[in-house]
Amino acid sequence: MTEQLRPDICIIGAGAAGLSLAAAAAAFGVPVVLIEKGRMGGECLNTGCVPSKAMIASARYAELCRNSGQFGIQQVLSGIEFDKVNDRIHRVISAIAPNDSKERFTGLGVRVIEGTAWFRNARTVVVGPEHDISHEIAARRFVIATGSLPAIPQIPGIEQIPYFTNENIFETRERPQHLIIIGAGSNGLELAQAFRRLGSEVTVIERDQPLRREDPECTAIVLDTLAREGVTVRSGAKVQRLRRLRQRIEVVLDNGETVHGSELLIAAGRRPNVEGLNLGPPMSSISRTAS
Ligand SMILES: Cc1cc2nc3c(=O)[nH]c(=O)nc-3n(C[C@H](O)[C@H](O)[C@H](O)COP(=O)(O)OP(=O)(O)OC[C@H]3O[C@@H](n4cnc5c(N)ncnc54)[C@H](O)[C@@H]3O)c2cc1C
Repeated sequence: MTEQLRPDICIIGAGAAGLSLAAAAAAFGVPVVLIEKGRMGGECLNTGCVPSKAMIASARYAELCRNSGQFGIQQVLSGIEFDKVNDRIHRVISAIAPNDSKERFTGLGVRVIEGTAWFRNARTVVVGPEHDISHEIAARRFVIATGSLPAIPQIPGIEQIPYFTNENIFETRERPQHLIIIGAGSNGLELAQAFRRLGSEVTVIERDQPLRREDPECTAIVLDTLAREGVTVRSGAKVQRLRRLRQRIEVVLDNGETVHGSELLIAAGRRPNVEGLNLGPPMSSISRTAS
């Protein structure tokens, strides 16, 4: 049977944005419904900030070990167990997960619903497939906090290549031998440094300038450090096509040069995650007319 709800606020998405808003609304005693179709905590906890920073922490230890001699400490880096680095990443996620959990938010007074939300019309959100709707929510305000998805560039040949994005890179328990990263934004570069420090060869390909929205002085420091640590960054190089060669991946650049690697990570920007919400022209009018 479909449960009918009439909260003040209905939030779609329990990532960093949705959770913060839900906690604040509940603290003010506002009736609030929070709907999540995947894992509570969204990208930050599961496939973004937390796993990346946990990986970076392991990589930093490896680098400290390599450089300890200059501080008068003789320490030998005798090996990196990539599977154990990965185990730790998941332990860190598990340690933080209770903060973002359904149980915690329910305890705060938020009504948490697990399922996929979509707009039946401009005033009603439903949860579940058309033939099996579990909840129908008519809220005073709706908040779309559904985040973003990795943007996958339409490069000829990409359909033949298995590639990583932030959604699955933290699942790999084997260290890539030579990781090619498409995209030199903050995510691409932080992972480039982490994988390099953990022993992979890394080549980053960027069609524009790396970190182009950042302060050029700061960017120069980052790029110098990456170069010193052995990360290759190819700027102003557009990928023309991709090819799978037995165990290797070939990347052909627009200047005709090729780069070969063992794995590919796409970190080429983000796109809004609004497909399936059934948003349409009525949504633009609801923001003007809602009271
Ligand atoms: C590798 C990496 C490292 C990062 N590091 C940092 C960092 O160090 N610091 C920082 O500030 N940011 C960092 N970020 C960015 C950060 O992860 C995002 O800005 C943040 O997670 C966005 O939160 P959000 O709530 O907007 O969206 P999300 O976290 O994406 O949450 C959206 C949620 O909505 C759910 N959802 C979508 N559609 C529906 C639907 N129809 N029904 C129900 N639920 C739905 C999704 O399942 C998801 O859980 C990093 C990102 C990446 C990829």
